Amino acid sequence: MGIGARVSQYAPFIAIVGAGPAGLAAAEVLSAAGARVAVYDRMPSVARKFLMAGRGGLNLTHSEPLPRFLTRYGAAEERLSPALTAFPPDALRAWALGLGEETFVGSSGRVFPLTFKASPLLRAWLARLGAQGVSFHLRHAFRDWAPSGALLFDTPDGPAEVTADAVILALGGASWPRLGADGGWVDALRAAGIAVNALAPANMGVTIAWSEVFRTRFAGTPLKRIAVRFGKTVVRGEAVVTASGLEGGAIYALSTDLRRALGHRAITLHLDLRPDVDAKALAARLAAAPPKASFSTVLAKNGGLPPVAANLVREVTGPARPGAEALAGLIKDLPLEVTGHAGLERAISTAGGIAWKSIGPDFALAGLPQTLPPVFAAGEMLDWEAPTGGYLLQACFATGRAAAEGVKARLGLTR
Ligand SMILES: Cc1cc2nc3c(=O)[nH]c(=O)nc-3n(C[C@H](O)[C@H](O)[C@H](O)COP(=O)(O)OP(=O)(O)OC[C@H]3O[C@@H](n4cnc5c(N)ncnc54)[C@H](O)[C@@H]3O)c2cc1C
Repeated sequence: MGIGARVSQYAPFIAIVGAGPAGLAAAEVLSAAGARVAVYDRMPSVARKFLMAGRGGLNLTHSEPLPRFLTRYGAAEERLSPALTAFPPDALRAWALGLGEETFVGSSGRVFPLTFKASPLLRAWLARLGAQGVSFHLRHAFRDWAPSGALLFDTPDGPAEVTADAVILALGGASWPRLGADGGWVDALRAAGIAVNALAPANMGVTIAWSEVFRTRFAGTPLKRIAVRFGKTVVRGEAVVTASGLEGGAIYALSTDLRRALGHRAITLHLDLRPDVDAKALAARLAAAPPKASFSTVLAKNGGLPPVAANLVREVTGPARPGAEALAGLIKDLPLEVTGHAGLERAISTAGGIAWKSIGPDFALAGLPQTLPPVFAAGEMLDWEAPTGGYLLQACFATGRAAAEGVKARLGLTR
């Protein structure tokens, strides 16, 4: 795609590095404002993580009221609120509709496109960006800045330098690095004087030492309609047994607390395998089992547990067979010793990133050498984390657009 004819050759030239949702959102705003916009990415195609997010049903955003929505960003709420208020979930839904993708609210309040997929939305989005004159330069890996202040890229044809009137970095975090965002930018930014907090997995699974039998039989099996407790926090939802532990929504929701606790001690998670039944009623049902019924039958028929949950109980009891009351207690509060958490390569998102003290309210990086043009940053490379539920993408879109507004204000683009 070349730079479109409608864009004046005298318009400011903006380089956006990173073609994920944050970078593309910035490109849309700036190209609509009449800037010449070029998007660079190290991968051979754009928005690979966004497409991957669409594999399991693209959860674009969440329908809960905005004040509650904003609390999901924890310590970063205050810094993210202006961007999220300027481009809230309703605006994201309207934007998707404008690209032909109607959205709906699922039973959990999460918002999805009717197609569930990311690819039709991305296709329509790229067509709009092309029509607005945005050019794309793939296989361009940002390495550093040249002494002149130009961006330095590694390309298949050798190093390339790009001089722009302003730059937006939207390089993502470091989870699922094979999709493009690998956190390789951290050293260059630190060397340029930007404070970057260590990148760490967020929304990640935990590791548990399953028996060989349980792992072989149940890895990949969901534990549906359970509650997971860590300390005083209880999350209802679903988890999935993996070869090395547990992952899925109910675990991810606890992941910030789990990561912090696992930094200095071994921890125990407690599973309620029958959250809708109270312990007394469950004990009565278990006690009513025929005396000769096998343990498996009691767990399945009287306990109402699917095979994965029944075998999870047996992982904890071993060969012993507790009495009805003790068994009910275990089903309602099954202790699982967690030995660690999954690494960045399997995490849904990244904690840590560019520290807020190095970012202005307009998303400009503060403290860079004078030789550089204004540099802004957006998306998951900033230091915030949020649970799954559409909060991740919403913040990437909103900060991408906010950084673009910052560029517009700085360069006096008024359209
Ligand atoms: C399996 C999975 C499912 C998910 N599902 C959801 C979901 O349903 N809902 C939700 O809200 N969120 C979801 N997420 C999270 C969401 O996809 C991310 O938060 C979001 O894509 C981050 O956007 P971004 O633009 O900041 O970064 P990214 O999407 O990671 O894009 C960054 C881009 O920068 C490029 N880049 C990196 N380094 C360089 C460099 N040095 N030079 C040039 N280019 C570079 C990368 O190639 C990449 O294209 C999911 C994530 C995963 C892994």
